[in-house]
Amino acid sequence: MKALFGALFVAVMVVGAADAATLRVVTSVKPLQSLAASIMEGVAVPDVLIKGGASAHAYSLRPSDAEILNRAEVIFWIGPSFEIFLERPLSSLGSKARVVALAEAPGMKIMPLRTGGLWSRGDDHNESHADSLAASRADGHIWLDPANDKIIAAQMTAVLSAADSANTTRYRQNLAAMNLRLDALDQELRRTLAPVKEKPFIVFHDATQYFEASYGLRAMGAVAADPDRPPGARRLAQIKDDIADKNFICVFADPQFEPKLVRTLIDGSAARTGILDPEGSTLASGPELHFNLMRGLADNLVRCLTTP
Ligand SMILES: [Zn+2]
Repeated sequence: MKALFGALFVAVMVVGAADAATLRVVTSVKPLQSLAASIMEGVAVPDVLIKGGASAHAYSLRPSDAEILNRAEVIFWIGPSFEIFLERPLSSLGSKARVVALAEAPGMKIMPLRTGGLWSRGDDHNESHADSLAASRADGHIWLDPANDKIIAAQMTAVLSAADSANTTRYRQNLAAMNLRLDALDQELRRTLAPVKEKPFIVFHDATQYFEASYGLRAMGAVAADPDRPPGARRLAQIKDDIADKNFICVFADPQFEPKLVRTLIDGSAARTGILDPEGSTLASGPELHFNLMRGLADNLVRCLTTP
């Protein structure tokens, strides 16, 4: 009996130790998973809710996601203006997990979604009301600003070190290495994008302004007036007229959007088409996604905006 108790005790200790050794970290979207994966390299792989080609803009929580959230010890998300579908589930989690809204990290640069002109939210009769709503809404694509990425990485490191002090040294070493890589990427993108500064283009949804502001680029409007809704027939007709009237060099589609539809939009204008994937929906998850995502944006912008 005593031996059996001893064996059970050892078994419980082993299970407990294995459990405690792996901090369960959940991220909302692939760009955050990538930054967290770099900081956690050599410790554990953070989970991500929105996998594959799905977008945070049209997502609803699945039962399996709720399960992942319930088991999490740390949850990283942008905040309620971006992953709208997470706001209620996270507030009902109680105090089990540390929930970290990265948009609220100290020093984070936050820009409001663009309104007016070709950015207008005018997809319905209630245009001015929709515009004023959008004006008060933050743009959540914060990972497209290189300075914000360093803040996100530092914030993740602080939170992970507090939740898992045994691996603090590792997290800090990974952060130092990551900061060097982020600086090198920033310098590289500055050189890559210098030739296409100020060349006017249209994006599919208002996603890239952090990137534009960082590298002197000039998007003039979006095909979709609201990032969280697909463009209606009226909006598409309006933007087609705008494209025909003005001298945009490129109209960029999102990867999920039908290329045929974008070709219809540029019909009768001198604009070309390209694809931008600001959310990494076509990229494999992991530490390299962030670098592939930023380089992919730069390469696709240069390819389309460079006049042959
Ligand atoms: Zn987006």
